[in-house]
Formats: sequence, C-alpha cells, structure tokens
Amino acid sequence: MTALLDSLSIPKRLHVFEATHQAANARLDAVQPASYARTRNALDGAVTGLSPYFAHGIISLSDAARAIHARHALDFDDKLVFEFGWREFFQHVVGHQKNPDAILQDLHGAVPWHGHYANTLPRDIREGCTGVAAIDNAVRILYATGYLHNHLRMYLASYVVHVRKVHWRAGADWLYGHLLDGDLPSNHLSWQWVAGTFSSKPYLFNADNAMKYAPAGARQAWDCRGTVIDQSYEALDEMARSQAGAGPEPGEHDRVAEPPLLNHFCPSNTAEAQSNRARVAIDNIATRKLELVHPWHLSQRIATDTLRIGIIHLPAHADWPWSERRWQFVLDAMAAVTDAIWMGDLTALDTSSAGSVTAQATLFPGYRQALAKMVAPNFALTPAPGLLPNPAMACRSFSKFYERARRDAGSFADLLSS
Ligand SMILES: Cc1cc2nc3c(=O)[nH]c(=O)nc-3n(C[C@H](O)[C@H](O)[C@H](O)COP(=O)(O)OP(=O)(O)OC[C@H]3O[C@@H](n4cnc5c(N)ncnc54)[C@H](O)[C@@H]3O)c2cc1C
Repeated sequence: MTALLDSLSIPKRLHVFEATHQAANARLDAVQPASYARTRNALDGAVTGLSPYFAHGIISLSDAARAIHARHALDFDDKLVFEFGWREFFQHVVGHQKNPDAILQDLHGAVPWHGHYANTLPRDIREGCTGVAAIDNAVRILYATGYLHNHLRMYLASYVVHVRKVHWRAGADWLYGHLLDGDLPSNHLSWQWVAGTFSSKPYLFNADNAMKYAPAGARQAWDCRGTVIDQSYEALDEMARSQAGAGPEPGEHDRVAEPPLLNHFCPSNTAEAQSNRARVAIDNIATRKLELVHPWHLSQRIATDTLRIGIIHLPAHADWPWSERRWQFVLDAMAAVTDAIWMGDLTALDTSSAGSVTAQATLFPGYRQALAKMVAPNFALTPAPGLLPNPAMACRSFSKFYERARRDAGSFADLLSS
C-alpha cells in the first residue's frame, strides 16, 4: 500500500487514520491555515485529513476551530473556516427538508440532461481499470486508505455521472461505504452538486485540470492526456448535456479488487459477547444515568458518573454497509470512549433500569427512527454540536447560508466564546 501511495506522491499523513483523539489532536496541531488556503486544491496540498474525525464526532468543528484559533487567530475570511462552513451548510440543507432522506433523491431535475442514467456503477470503475489515470488512481487510493482529496472526489463524481452516464446515487452510495469520513449530507449533496441536481450546471474537469493539481513528484502517474477527458470544457459540457457518454478507454488496464462492503463487521460471537456485557452493564447501572453513543457521536467522555454504551443499530447498516476499514475505525473509536458496545436492533434494547437515558440527535436513516421510538419519560435527545449559527430560514445556496451565519454570529471570536 505504501509503495502505491508513494508512487502517486500522496502525502504520508493521508495514508493512515488512527481512530483516537490523540491522532485528531495531532492533526489539529499541524494545521497551517495560510498554507491550507494557498495549496488546498493540489492533491499534495496542506489539507488537514480531519474529516474522519468530524464525521464520527471524535472532535467537533467548534472544538477544532477553537484549537486552531488559539494558534493562528482565525476569521470568517479564512478559507478553512469557509470549508468548515460547507460541512455545516450540507447539514443545514438536510435539516430543512420535510423528510431528511429527501437528499437521497434528486433535489431537482438534472440540469445537464433529463434522459436515462444507469443505476449501477460499472465494474471497470469499481475495479479502477477505466484507463483514465485520475479515476483509476482515485479508486486505488480510496481502497488503500479510506480517504480521498476533495478534487479526486469531484473527478470521480464528474466522470461517473457526465462521462459514463451513471446516476449519481449509485456512485454516492459506493463512495460513502468506502470512505472513513462517509457522511450522507456532505457526500450525497456533493454528488448532486456535481451532477447538477443540486446546482445550476454540471461540474466538469479535463486532463489539463488533472495535471494542474497532480502532485509535483508524480505528474506522469496522473497524466490523462489522450483519454476521454482530454477535451475542451465546451466539448465536455456538450457530452454532459447529451445522451452520448463514453465507455472505458480501449485496451487492457490493471484491475484492483474492491474490498467488500459489510452490513456487520464484528464476528457474531464477539458481537454477542459485547452486547451481553452492555446488557449486564445497563441492568447493574449504579448511577442510574445512561448515555447511548452512536457512530456519529464518538466524543470523549465528559461525565464520569454516566454509563456510556456504544450502539450499533444493525438494521440501519443493511442499507448502509461499510468497508472493514471503516468498521474497524468506528469500533476502535467507540471502544475507547464507552463502557461497552451494544449491537442489534436498537428498538429491542431495554433501558428501563436506567433513571435517565440520553443520546445525541442524528439524522442518519435507521438510527433517527430508532431513537425517535425511545420516548419513555426517562429519555432525551441532545442536540448535535455545531460551529456556525444555523439560519432559521432555509438557504438554497452556500453563499446565502454563510452570509447569514456570519451576520448572526458577530465576530469570529464571539462565536467561539459563545
Ligand atoms: C463527491 C464528493 C463527496 C464527498 N463526500 C464527503 C463525505 O462523505 N464526507 C465528508 O466529510 N466530506 C465529503 N466531501 C467534502 C470534502 O471532499 C471532504 O470533506 C474533504 O475532502 C475532507 O478532507 P479534509 O478533512 O482533509 O479536508 P480539508 O480540506 O482539510 O477541510 C477541512 C474540513 O472542512 C470540511 N470541508 C472541506 N471541504 C469541504 C467540502 N467541499 N464540503 C463539505 N465540507 C468540506 C470538512 O469537514 C473537512 O474535514 C465530498 C466532496 C465531494 C466532491
């Protein structure tokens, strides 16, 4: 794996993501907002690699902003804060849907072309053998690390939808499962943004663009000249807006095996033992306070008198499977901050022996509905922490959202001290 990533000049800090608070803090310490702003578009630029930690609540955006601000005095004009804003914008959009699962469907008709998009991802894409270097490299990096640079995510989505004429949802579900940071609002809405069902034009990239942002040390490995994307933007736009797509490049290309996506990871006897331990812990709860900790809330323990039980609501993962790498990341992070992990159907978990039960709210399908059923008088949902004030009115564009949030916040320092 290291040889592959080195040959593509992927920075070492983006090879491995340890599921610990220490690893997240080390990344925060290393953030350089000025060089981030200058280089973030390059595949070897100073991106933070913080997304797996944000996606699972190991650290919150506001804690991260505070930590970085203490060293570098951030402001709303900082590119990094702006990008944090994008993450919150996507949450805002989901929160304003009548049904949060609406983001899993086209938000509006496809701007480029209203015709038919295939609903399965072709094998050559899944196996990284399209013959387009930027795409095949991205697939290999994804399988090797569980992480992709933003530009590679955009390239993949654009190629899948506009060149191969595959519906964005097929690509989004596949990518979601393999990413350590897979987050339905950021992922599915970004795919829709690229596709044109949540934006006003298709996002396109060509061979020159891939070369411009390729790591300086490995330009040749990223060379896409002579392939279907080696065209002008006008020609690519025409392709995006027509029925005619393209197939993989002619000839034989090396394949990579796709790691399986699993509905359930722990070997069943371990899962059972864990769940029994969690049940016993709940039954013998001395403090009477119980906190249920789901995979998007893996923050450090605050109250020492509370029993913390990690919950894996298995029915939800029948629809949203994860790679083994992601399961391992989540279970390691969960084990570090809870007393025991419970796996099964959350609606069957008996918490009646606890005096009070809390869980952080989540919009994630399956978990959302299961938590909503736990309405016993002893149960309360706590809000998920945010960084920016969430405008009450639905904002259709990021710029509107950011402008309003900024206005409501006052100064950045005020925001962090609130
Ligand atoms: C097709 C596609 C799918 C994506 N899927 C996901 C996903 O599943 N989960 C996810 O967290 N992000 C997703 N993104 C957004 C973005 O690519 C990642 O957040 C970013 O690349 C994560 O790497 P980083 O932490 O090193 O980012 P940095 O550039 O270091 O940014 C710091 C933080 O700002 C936020 N951020 C940065 N860029 C974006 C952006 N464009 N949109 C939203 N938030 C952003 C993230 O929380 C990120 O951790 C997707 C983007 C695209 C185009």
